[in-house]
Amino acid sequence: MLIDSHAHLDSHRYNDDREAMLRRALEAGVGAVLSIGIGEGPAEMHLARDLGRQFNGKPGMPRLYASAGIYPHSTTEADQAALVKLDQLLADPDVIACGEIGLDYFHEGAAHDVQRDGLIRQLEIAAARKKPIVIHCRPKDGTADAWDDLFLVLEEFWGRTALGGIMHCFGGGWEQARRSLDLGFLISFAGNITYPKAQPLRDVAAQVPRDSVLVETDAPWLAPAANRGKRNEPAMVVHTAQVLAELLGVGADEIAASTTQNFYRLFPRISAYGET
Ligand SMILES: [Zn+2]
Repeated sequence: MLIDSHAHLDSHRYNDDREAMLRRALEAGVGAVLSIGIGEGPAEMHLARDLGRQFNGKPGMPRLYASAGIYPHSTTEADQAALVKLDQLLADPDVIACGEIGLDYFHEGAAHDVQRDGLIRQLEIAAARKKPIVIHCRPKDGTADAWDDLFLVLEEFWGRTALGGIMHCFGGGWEQARRSLDLGFLISFAGNITYPKAQPLRDVAAQVPRDSVLVETDAPWLAPAANRGKRNEPAMVVHTAQVLAELLGVGADEIAASTTQNFYRLFPRISAYGET
């Protein structure tokens, strides 16, 4: 069994075939999906959780877990009402993580200090609710600016919680991978490791210890090389797992087993229920 540790199942791009898409995931061997609850902004943070309520328990579907969080460029909307809503969502046992949150200096949008403040407020809420975090970090091309700022924040506000988290769609170098591992994070690789030009990223992936890796789709974006440019979906995580297995020199079964084990280790409350 594989776990897709990051998919935007609430995307309107699945409105016509969401249930069939989830069935294809289970048929491909994807037993669980972490459904990311950022929507198009805080007003839609609950949609991922609601999808779990809609589909969990139906036969032929992967188990859905949810996150909730305010995306870096939505932090302009991180007012008191939004933060209260986030806190209430994180109190729900099916909302297992806070995210995706972080810093994005690649796209135009929220000012850096607004993103940073929004991140810190959310770290405080996640710490109080004892939920690991899902981090989105994207620097300006050719720099590590967002990473440098991110690590300063995480070292000050998150490291001591020992709750850890996931570096989602990891795209940094070895230095950023090492600092993430030092903070107790798992490193999640997406379909971009399958792209022809991604050799530097594959070189980093090959060095990450097997007990610290996850795989994800970031669906509907970032389809693996075989389907690049098309709509992505959780079933495609199989391709990313295959490339990662080759890089680490192990079988696909072993990657499935270790990424699943790593996921449940990060979320001990759900593994306590033996849900696989
Ligand atoms: Zn995402």
